[in-house]
Amino acid sequence: MNYINARCMMCGKNYQLEEDNKDYKKMSDKEKPGTYICDFCSNRVRYESDDKRKSPRPQSN
Ligand SMILES: [Zn+2]
Repeated sequence: MNYINARCMMCGKNYQLEEDNKDYKKMSDKEKPGTYICDFCSNRVRYESDDKRKSPRPQSN
């Protein structure tokens, strides 16, 4: 199976994305390579944004 090296833009770790990875196609685009965020970091981001939604910071005027 083909794979491509991708570096997570959040934690900086290198990952090998196999051909069937959902991000493989955008990362293998030589003209305009996409940004990669690993599963661990994307889960963390999702968790943090959920947390913000539940307890919004009060607005001060
Ligand atoms: Zn990461």
